[in-house]
Amino acid sequence: MIAAMNLDLPPFQPGSVWLVGAGPGDPGLLTALALHALSQADVVVHDALVDARIVALANPAAQVESMGKRGGQASPKQDQITARLVELARMGKKVLRLKGGDPFVFGRGAEEALVLAAENILFRVVPGVSAGIGGLAYAGIPVTAKQCNSTLAFVTGHDQDGDVPDGFDWESLARGAQVIVFYMGLSKVETLVQRLLAAGRRPDELMAVVSKAATPQQQVLETTLGSLVADLAATPLPAPALLVLGGVVGLRQHLRWWQP
Ligand code: SAH
Repeated sequence: MIAAMNLDLPPFQPGSVWLVGAGPGDPGLLTALALHALSQADVVVHDALVDARIVALANPAAQVESMGKRGGQASPKQDQITARLVELARMGKKVLRLKGGDPFVFGRGAEEALVLAAENILFRVVPGVSAGIGGLAYAGIPVTAKQCNSTLAFVTGHDQDGDVPDGFDWESLARGAQVIVFYMGLSKVETLVQRLLAAGRRPDELMAVVSKAATPQQQVLETTLGSLVADLAATPLPAPALLVLGGVVGLRQHLRWWQP
């Protein structure tokens, strides 16, 4: 089917690894290269975040391995995952490393690619629709709008040790980024809210939580920075979820185009 589209897609070479973004959920958001890789791969090594409907698109002859890091649950160590990719590539397999969203956005794709490069293993990166852009779009929230913001920041709620990151200047972030999107922030909302308020953001600023974006289980909570913690306690939402702060959240009332 893809070949018929005459896109001149590159061959998947045996012994190579493709680091592929699967998007936030909806299989329709896969790129042509991602679909091509799914049909060609000998082995699919996927993250916990990748939607089951997407894994099901793999060639039926492909071996499928689930190897993802998942907050709070026992999960393979990053070096075990990379070691497995290297091992499979050295066996001459066409290895598809499938990640939620985009592989280079808070997805450890860089770490994996660095090891592959150091080991002289041929690799290709296939960008995907990141949850912080495409997932929010499915919730009717544009990450930029002319009347709201000319700056945008993506921030992780977790550093290497699982804590809210402090290796940057929160006041500069609060002053410089009109819209802030947090990945992996759901379990740290209290601290994130404290940091943002202490750094000068106003408690009446609009905020949203988007859970399982672009999947049939998508849920959205619209609130404010000052009410986020109480509203989430009253209506808990499951991970994975994004937090978004800024005026663009207010456009959702006009732009809610998708209902799961
Ligand atoms: N590489 C991914 C992000 C991986 S970090 C990307 O580009 O989207 C994992 C975090 O991504 C989650 O904690 C959550 O904040 C976010 N995320 C991924 N998929 C999501 C989805 N379908 N809905 C909401 N948040 C999602």
